[in-house]
Amino acid sequence: MEQTQSREWEQTQLKGLFCQSCGMLMEEASDEEFGTNADGSKNEDYCSYCYQKGAFTDPDISMEEMIKATAKGWAEHNPSVSYEVALEVSRKNIPTLKRWQ
Ligand SMILES: [Zn+2]
Repeated sequence: MEQTQSREWEQTQLKGLFCQSCGMLMEEASDEEFGTNADGSKNEDYCSYCYQKGAFTDPDISMEEMIKATAKGWAEHNPSVSYEVALEVSRKNIPTLKRWQ
């Protein structure tokens, strides 16, 4: 189970359509899932929850807080994913995202 989820994440990563802050998958077709630059144009690196009008919506969040928040949201939206598994995967993947380098 856990391995399948990790693999899904890796496949998403290859497509490059996931937020570089929280790791959320962003559908290319739906612009509202993407963040926006200061001039209002689409920012393809970050999702609308993390990045709006050229700035992070929560600039002071730590990587650890992001890992926990992401794991919680993921587990809540996927009844088949336990918080523990989500936390483990997030802990492995979030640190690799551009925002946290
Ligand atoms: Zn995000």
